[in-house]
Amino acid sequence: MAGKCRVCDHGERAAIDKAIVTRSASLRTIADRYGVSKTALIRHRDSHIPKLVQAAESARAMQAASSGAALIDELDRLLKKALAILEAAEKAGELKVALQAIREARETIKACAELAMAAELEARVEALEAQIVEAQRGGVWSV
Ligand SMILES: [Zn+2]
Repeated sequence: MAGKCRVCDHGERAAIDKAIVTRSASLRTIADRYGVSKTALIRHRDSHIPKLVQAAESARAMQAASSGAALIDELDRLLKKALAILEAAEKAGELKVALQAIREARETIKACAELAMAAELEARVEALEAQIVEAQRGGVWSV
């Protein structure tokens, strides 16, 4: 993946990943801010960020693992913060603030779920690809 993706090769990749995952800004804004195309961002988000998370979960590549773990930690931190705000706002009867905190928490949970699903799909694709290679080697398929 290195050498082909403008985002992976970007000097501020960690910041870009964080912005994408936490949705702190729209893709268009992130693209403008870091001078990459929105298409490159989407490809990176769909293909390379899941690999990071997957690596974090299986702890294979040290570098990728720490980046993926940092993203999960960041989402976790955001979620805890939103829930703390929610609790305080409910106690204080600040319903508008509470509602906003719920929305924030929901977005964060959605982002976590999407990351986990993407990592899961990525792992399945890799397993299938390995099976195909294996099948071709065994001459089972004449592809
Ligand atoms: Zn990339």
